[in-house]
Amino acid sequence: MKKRIGLLYGGKSAEHEVSLSTARAVTGALNFEEYEVYPIFITPEGEWRRGELLKKPASTIEELQFGDDVTILENNITDFLIDNNGKAIQFDVIFPLLHGTNGEDGTVQGLLEVLNLPYVGNGVLASSAGMDKVIMKQLFEIAGLPQVPYTYFIRSDWANEQEAIIARCEEKLDWPMFVKPANLGSSVGINKATNRDELVKAIEIALQYDRKIVVEQGIVAREVELAVLGNDFPEVSVPGEIKPVTEFYDYDSKYKDGSTALIIPAELPVNTVSGLQDLAKRAFKAIDGSGLVRADFFVTADNSIYINEVNTMPGFTPVSMYPLLWQHTNVSYPELIDRLITLAIERFEEKQ
Ligand code: ADP
Ligand code: MG
Ligand code: MG
Repeated sequence: MKKRIGLLYGGKSAEHEVSLSTARAVTGALNFEEYEVYPIFITPEGEWRRGELLKKPASTIEELQFGDDVTILENNITDFLIDNNGKAIQFDVIFPLLHGTNGEDGTVQGLLEVLNLPYVGNGVLASSAGMDKVIMKQLFEIAGLPQVPYTYFIRSDWANEQEAIIARCEEKLDWPMFVKPANLGSSVGINKATNRDELVKAIEIALQYDRKIVVEQGIVAREVELAVLGNDFPEVSVPGEIKPVTEFYDYDSKYKDGSTALIIPAELPVNTVSGLQDLAKRAFKAIDGSGLVRADFFVTADNSIYINEVNTMPGFTPVSMYPLLWQHTNVSYPELIDRLITLAIERFEEKQ
């Protein structure tokens, strides 16, 4: 029997467009002899729309947006479970291809839990812990993972004790500092500060995106990423290096100008590679990951390693780092998709 998959993509998030390209690529890699694929599109406004069973891979992203002639599943998100004759569609698995807020942060995962549906990737806890940079750093700290010094505060603290916060940053951290909204991705709202004035400016920008702000020590280092795949016994890929041409790996270099070089495998001493692989696994366990994470590190000139973050739904187009890392570790894109689906079903069955 064919497995029935609900591909969930788009989303009310800054990474809506990226998600659409990913969905198109995934339909191209799924074996239609083996899978029945239902497209479920979340509009930028957050409306859910389910399309008809896909007969073949989508050739454009427009095809996955259905146009205006589709019934909007208004006010009732769970209508995606009902077919046109009012009968329930029995999904074997939901594959969320959503990045950022309302998708990668545990919210959609919570909905799927309540509906008792198996889904690909991280559960509620890992997803939300991975989305909040403060919680993530605290979990890494408890797990004993090396990271750069940091401090954090919330918007109302800033309003009341600005001077004290600046003093705390200067006391704990050296210049330059990186200021980040706690709950975003894709480098949105992140700025580097080399002095007090820039710090205040960077904090005020970050506060436009989030009520919780992280300030961390800037580091001169290479950026190296590893892919983790599995549930209780995760496997780790070879490392890959990112070489942005801009000053840091910002939103445009991630998605727009295509100027960033990905070097896979990264050129590193064997010891450093095994150190990174061990830390990537420990980071996955620290957030109680399942399915997949991409673990991102800083590696300094003397090969000291610091963990930067994990991403629980990393970029997943065929030219994104996560799938490319597996390709260089002998797991092809279609095979990777199969593995993720199997892992999702295994985790669900184990829970029952
Ligand atoms: P996001 O979740 O948005 O990707 P990151 O924490 O990875 O946020 O920061 C985005 C980019 O900013 C990093 O890839 C890196 O280029 C740069 N960066 C972040 N923190 C530091 C730091 N402490 N020192 C130097 N560069 C940093
Ligand atoms: Mg991130
Ligand atoms: Mg990052």
